[in-house]
Amino acid sequence: MLRARNVHKSFGHIEVLKGITLEVQTGQVACLLGPSGSGKSTFLRCINHLEKINDGELWVKSERIGYRRSGNSLHELKENETARQRAAVGMVFQQFNLFPHRTALENVVEGPIIVQKVPKSKAMREGMELLDRVGLADKYKHYPAQLSGGQQQRVAIARALALKPQLMLFDEPTSALDPELVGEVLDVMTSLAASGMTMVVVTHEMGFAKEVGDVVHFMADGQLVESGSPTQVLENPREARTQAFLSKVL
Ligand code: ATP
Ligand code: MG
Repeated sequence: MLRARNVHKSFGHIEVLKGITLEVQTGQVACLLGPSGSGKSTFLRCINHLEKINDGELWVKSERIGYRRSGNSLHELKENETARQRAAVGMVFQQFNLFPHRTALENVVEGPIIVQKVPKSKAMREGMELLDRVGLADKYKHYPAQLSGGQQQRVAIARALALKPQLMLFDEPTSALDPELVGEVLDVMTSLAASGMTMVVVTHEMGFAKEVGDVVHFMADGQLVESGSPTQVLENPREARTQAFLSKVL
């Protein structure tokens, strides 16, 4: 589903991603761990084309992010094609980023109606189904300020799903939440994983990585240090940098 090959990203003179190569299979949940500043968010932002990579390739299914080949030459995609690629990849951030003056349901249906031109009645019906799926059907009229952090994040997940993405990216979706609200968001993510969604999850929730993750990738200093099953990477890490990181967080 996702293939990254030798992805490089620099900001000015600073190289933040130093050649990331990894694959995520369809239906897999890949958890991405690593110290602060190691490039995890930058990598997710590159997948979603919020950042442009300097070298290497990113593929989602059979499409190369940002480019198209015709004959022997490679063309940069136009803005509308980039937008279409971006819509196929849902993203959920640490900060929920809901529109404050829109209700939960309005937040969810905005993308389908505006971006995908879905008829309003259909978008509303599907939006209600999604709110039901994240356990918030009864809150559809609430504004973000009337919802808890955990509820807002579940609306944000429903909003990302409304565009029917092939791949979902989560960037520390529970880090901004009070501890007692973390579980309800992880539960929604767990059931999404069980439904077969392909997911890349940046998280410090080791329990989630162990129970739901199919693969764990450990990143440090812009490089992929080690990948493997959750048990292997979290309980029996090979690399010294992984061991040092885990000894601090576990
Ligand atoms: P954290 O765990 O704290 O979220 P991270 O692994 O997500 O860290 P990134 O946010 O990807 O790390 O940042 C990696 C490096 O890139 C950092 O040194 C950061 O300062 C730098 N960086 C990120 N975005 C930009 C930007 N737009 N301009 C300049 N430098 C940036
Ligand atoms: Mg980050």
